[in-house]
Parts: sequence; structure tokens; C-alpha cells
Amino acid sequence: MNIILLGAPGAGKGTQAKRLEDSHSLVQLSTGDMLRAAVASGSDLGRQAKAVMDAGKLVADELIIRMISDRIDEPDCKGGFILDGFPRTSPQAEALDKMLTGKGLRLDAVIEMKVDEDALVERITGRYSCVKCGAGYHDKFQIPAKAGVCDRCGGTEFNRRADDNEETVRTRLEAYRGQTAPILPYYRDKGILKTVDGMAAIDEVTRQIEAGLAA
Ligand code: ADP
Ligand code: ADP
Ligand code: ZN
Repeated sequence: MNIILLGAPGAGKGTQAKRLEDSHSLVQLSTGDMLRAAVASGSDLGRQAKAVMDAGKLVADELIIRMISDRIDEPDCKGGFILDGFPRTSPQAEALDKMLTGKGLRLDAVIEMKVDEDALVERITGRYSCVKCGAGYHDKFQIPAKAGVCDRCGGTEFNRRADDNEETVRTRLEAYRGQTAPILPYYRDKGILKTVDGMAAIDEVTRQIEAGLAA
């Protein structure tokens, strides 16, 4: 099964992707995580992406498309993958279609996670994650069962993203509204778009996604 989680920054894509990885043996392909790894490694791609990411703008389509195409070719994607944060523009959505056809693969579902903008700012500014496994947490909404210990892997180191500040978040929300939300009709027309209530509690969102995938 190959699926897309589509939603604004902070909608809960990463949180739900981690759950789907565990429950369906899929791999999460987060373009944001890949770019942050590229920045940390100091690669050419990382150098090109850093300033754009810090500003909350979108990295050039060609770079992202190449990065994701190469990643899908890796053997761990054979059992199915969850695209998290890609596609984010119409050219990316169209390139994805061509790419999948060329690789003999298809998309099974696109899950739209709908969340009010006010809630997104609060979610993003309180977000942090486990350094070891990437599991996401929140100061108020998703606290580890044991303080300072990751529920998923037992890790004890956490970090916050440099771009998770209110000012950058506003720019990222604008990019979502202007460049990403317009691709929703593309998938609606294909008949594979399922919309879930991203404002619901985390377990309820998971339930709605599972129902959408089973339908
Ligand atoms: P995205 O990957 O879409 O940017 P995340 O999964 O990182 O979003 O979620 C953003 C923040 O909101 C995280 O701190 C996460 O713990 C929290 N969060 C995720 N889903 C919910 C939810 N349904 N209700 C409340 N908080 C949530
Ligand atoms: P969030 O879901 O919280 O918006 P991501 O981790 O998906 O954050 O993305 C962080 C940043 O990485 C984005 O603001 C953007 O600069 C860049 N980025 C990630 N995915 C893409 C993409 N598909 N196209 C262009 N830029 C991207
Ligand atoms: Zn962890």
C-alpha cells in the first residue's frame, strides 16, 4: 500500500505516519526529515535547502522530486510507503504520478487531515521529537508516559526544530494555503481522496484513517 498524508504544517501527519509504520509495516517518507538530514550532513542539497527552510518557504520542486524518486527506489520501500510532506505543489503531484507509473507503482489513497489554522500554531510551537526514533511529542497534547523517556523507543534525548517558531509558521501556513491545498481537487477528481477530522484526539484521527484505508 502506498499512501499520501496531506495536511498543513502541524496537522498531525508525522504523528499518524509513525503509527501507520508500526501497524501496517510501511515506511514513512518525510521530505522534511530528509531535508533536515541533508542540512545536518552539509551535503550540496542541504546547503541549497537550508535558507529556504529557515524562512518557511518551499524548496525547489526539481530538488525534492529527485530526492523522493531516489528514496522510493531503495529496497525498504518495496513493502509500501507513506508520503509525509510530499507532494506540496501541483508540479510535485504531477511528477509523482509520472514517477510511480514509471516504477510500476500506484497510489492507493490520499488522506487529507483537516485542522483549523489557530490550532496549528499552538501545535507547532509546542512540538518536539525523539532524536533516536523521530516520534513526535507536544508540551500539552502528547506527553511521554514517563517524563523524559520516549514511549516508542525508550530514547531520552529530544529536540525542537529551528523553524517551529510563530513567525516562520505563518509563512509555512501561507505556503500551504497558496501552493499545497490547491492539489486537493487533483486527488478528489481521481477518487482516492479521504478526508479525516484532524482536530479530533490523536487516537480518533488514527481510527478515521484506518476506516478510510479499509473503505
Ligand atoms: P505534521 O507532521 O503534520 O507537521 P505533527 O505530527 O508533527 O504534524 O504534529 C504537530 C504537533 O501536534 C506535535 O507536537 C504533535 O504531538 C501534536 N499533535 C498531533 N496530532 C494531534 C492531535 N490530533 N491533537 C493534538 N495534538 C496533536
Ligand atoms: P511541516 O509538516 O511541519 O510543514 P516538514 O518537515 O514537512 O514540516 O517541512 C519542513 C520544511 O522543509 C518546509 O517548510 C519546506 O521548506 C521544506 N520541505 C519539506 N517538504 C517539501 C516539499 N515537498 N517541497 C518543498 N519544500 C519542502
Ligand atoms: Zn523514540
